[in-house]
Amino acid sequence: MQANSLAFEASASEAMANETLQGSLRLLEQGWQKGRGRAAANLPEFEELRDIARDIKNHTLAHLDLYLEVFEERVIEAGGHVHWARDAEEARAIVLGICRDAGAQSVTKSKSMIAEEIGLNEFIESNGIERVETDLGEYIIQLANEPPSHLVGPAIHKSMDDVRDLFQQHHGGERIEAPAALVGEARRILRRKYFEADIGITGANFLVAETGTAITVTNEGNAELTQGLPDTQIVVTSIEKMVPRLFDATTFLRLLARSATGQEFSAYTTLMTGPRRAGDLDGPRHFHVVLLDNGRSSMLGTAFQEMLRCIRCGACMNHCPVYLAAGGHAYGWVYVGPMGSVLTPQFIGIDKGYPLPNASTFCGRCESVCPVRIPLPKLMRHWREEQFDRKLMPPRARMGLALWAYVARRPRLYRLATGIVARVLGLLGRRDGSFSSLPFASGWTLSRDMPAPQGATFMSRYRKHRRRKT
Ligand code: SF4
Repeated sequence: MQANSLAFEASASEAMANETLQGSLRLLEQGWQKGRGRAAANLPEFEELRDIARDIKNHTLAHLDLYLEVFEERVIEAGGHVHWARDAEEARAIVLGICRDAGAQSVTKSKSMIAEEIGLNEFIESNGIERVETDLGEYIIQLANEPPSHLVGPAIHKSMDDVRDLFQQHHGGERIEAPAALVGEARRILRRKYFEADIGITGANFLVAETGTAITVTNEGNAELTQGLPDTQIVVTSIEKMVPRLFDATTFLRLLARSATGQEFSAYTTLMTGPRRAGDLDGPRHFHVVLLDNGRSSMLGTAFQEMLRCIRCGACMNHCPVYLAAGGHAYGWVYVGPMGSVLTPQFIGIDKGYPLPNASTFCGRCESVCPVRIPLPKLMRHWREEQFDRKLMPPRARMGLALWAYVARRPRLYRLATGIVARVLGLLGRRDGSFSSLPFASGWTLSRDMPAPQGATFMSRYRKHRRRKT
């Protein structure tokens, strides 16, 4: 996927004028956001679990080399293969090599953000291999030829009418109205594809070093069919998905669905350890794990190591006022919302992703709901500083910030300047109590009025109050 994060502002304005999208985003707020609140309230040890999850990830990341080696040994012992990919190009070449060795004509895929990150979908197809997405949301956006707009609900931006149109256009026949009938049609088509596929490609929510197991979590059971029916199974995943023991994975499984959709547990949790054994009735004969680095190991030991705790639950975006206004496509790359605002500049470079760390009100809701307590605003602030240091922001904004920093570092001047500005604006806005337009504040006044300052500044009132007390 070509990154287009520099166009964030224009794409977000377009998204805010899109009523269908705005309706979908409101549903997200009322559904998953509220659901997470209920699920957390119903589990007395929820906050304690978040601390345990953070500590397990911190421990794993501190010893990642050790756990990766143990994981590889266990996969080989179980009869599988592990492939190490330094970057996207290597990972794509490994997957294509496995497909060629198997003489594959078609693959079924279960949702994998890593596949999106490395551009695997287009690559497979450009090499003459048919790809069928089996997650319903992914299947819909495959038909629409669009990228996902949410980690958990990739087609959240599509209305029911969009889906009806897409199904009729691609499947032919009558336009289907009833939602259940639409699901039935997708199921009928996908069932045939599962049996025809030569290879199944899935991601992994967690990797377990102790047993060499890859764990997937779905609500549709599509990962199970993707991995269980074809002769060859490829898990395309990344190194930070590791946890030491199966027992540790249970902590994350208790947090993941609750944080994502408000469910106590996802409908299907599948553990894959190696290929089919003698006596097994089903399962793949060949089992491959592709372990992607793609810059992750260079995050270890830096401020951004904390981002490697992310379990891709989507809670941060479900609660982010900017994501809920702009939607996922505005972010211009695979990862969206607050987690995307930290990860995208990391993966594509701050020079191509600098608008994203600014796409935040810094209200802190993302951090307050993150199941592994990632300090997202702090990490976005790091990128903002980097953006300033590298002179990436427009000269006007840079000059404004430099001026503000000069004044803010001189308390007397700061008090004098804010006092004058508050008084002048208070006088000018006295009649209406607000401004419908103001020079240098058009970004604010375009969609709402700016309240005029009422009375003295906070600092002068504070000083007056203290004088009165002494
Ligand atoms: S940053 Fe936290 S809240 Fe956001 S997707 Fe990752 S784990 Fe979930």
